[in-house]
Amino acid sequence: MIRVTAVQPESIAEELGLMAGTDLLSVNGRELEDFLDWEFLTAEEEFLLHVRQPDGEEIEFEIERPLGEPLGVSLEPARIRRCANRCDFCFVDGLPDGLRDVLYIRDDDYRLSFRYGNFATLTNLKPRDVQRIIEYRLSPLYVSVHATDPTIRRYLLRNPTAPEILPQLREFAEHGIQFHTQIVMSPGVNDGPVLEQTLRELYEFGPAILDCSVVPVGLTEYSKHHLVREPGAEECRAAIRLVEARAAVARRERGTHWAFGADELYVRAGVELPPAEIYDGFDQVENGVGSVRWLQRQIAHGADQLHGWAGRTIGVVTGTAMGQLMPMVLEPLARVTGASFELIPVVNTLFGASVTTAGLLPGVALQRALAGRRDLDLALLPGEAVNDDGLFMDDMSLDLLAAAVPMELRLSKDFIDALHAPVAA
Ligand code: SF4
Repeated sequence: MIRVTAVQPESIAEELGLMAGTDLLSVNGRELEDFLDWEFLTAEEEFLLHVRQPDGEEIEFEIERPLGEPLGVSLEPARIRRCANRCDFCFVDGLPDGLRDVLYIRDDDYRLSFRYGNFATLTNLKPRDVQRIIEYRLSPLYVSVHATDPTIRRYLLRNPTAPEILPQLREFAEHGIQFHTQIVMSPGVNDGPVLEQTLRELYEFGPAILDCSVVPVGLTEYSKHHLVREPGAEECRAAIRLVEARAAVARRERGTHWAFGADELYVRAGVELPPAEIYDGFDQVENGVGSVRWLQRQIAHGADQLHGWAGRTIGVVTGTAMGQLMPMVLEPLARVTGASFELIPVVNTLFGASVTTAGLLPGVALQRALAGRRDLDLALLPGEAVNDDGLFMDDMSLDLLAAAVPMELRLSKDFIDALHAPVAA
């Protein structure tokens, strides 16, 4: 059963008399469990929908509608699948106390992997989930592999019952499912020969594995430092050598780069980032793989939309990780706009200085960085730092921050989105 939370005006759902609080029970006799069932089972032009209205009345509708026309209902969010692992590097363990409850949920959900590109380990799949992935052809899935050696993977996941990943992927691949994969690299555990083996076995698995990224373990002040550590520069350089060796084979044999290091791996290694051309479709940009090159490309493509910025002063707030790389992005941006950009790297006061990602910056740290800056016409904030409710990690709202600083604020993911219209003179 799925509950309707809202009905769009003038939609088919409104015409049928569905409303907030209506329970969607089944489609063509098949029970509905979540948004996946809803989307896949209602994809046909005609179907039989069984609902229960808020007053308890049950109704069956024979729906006939033009293909592609949405029914017009918003559904209550699916219950998140909890993770069955206890990785030493888990970000949830690295959270300070007192944040909003939802941040402490360890999610490991193949549905969100398909829908949003969240990485899942597939260690909590039940037979019914396997069946749904195959039946609904949930592809591509984003999978955290970490190591193909089952013992090492179980150790990394702290899950002695984790199924072997390669046979699991094989079963799905036989039904046409493809995968983007990642390896979170924990030094002394899955780097070196283990990393070499994992990259090789994933590559040799065949074209169903579309790519593989290597991301260095990232910890906060509160993480389990007695059990896990971040890799040093030489360890990152060694990982880059393995990634690039595998990429060279892939380019020769398949014409794609296939293996990628996250930007963070290059920063920690002190090695220059690869050029934009290697990132194929930038499929793992949300995972920090090729982010800088992607931003540069967005700016180059969107440059002709940026007018009216000459002579303006724009502050660009970011985490300390991108602080090192951002000049590579801001320099072309200054050239095309005529504005001057000031990089404002902010230390994360909530998780500790070792957390350098812009998306995890708390509102209070941004306020401190911007409060006295009357010289800025505009400040750009990392778009991923606020959730759908406009809240930063520390629950400060964007509105509250905007009221506390002297310049206009705009959220931005690629600069073009925030600079399409100039600020008022
Ligand atoms: S898979 Fe590991 S890192 Fe991810 S949520 Fe579970 S315990 Fe945390």
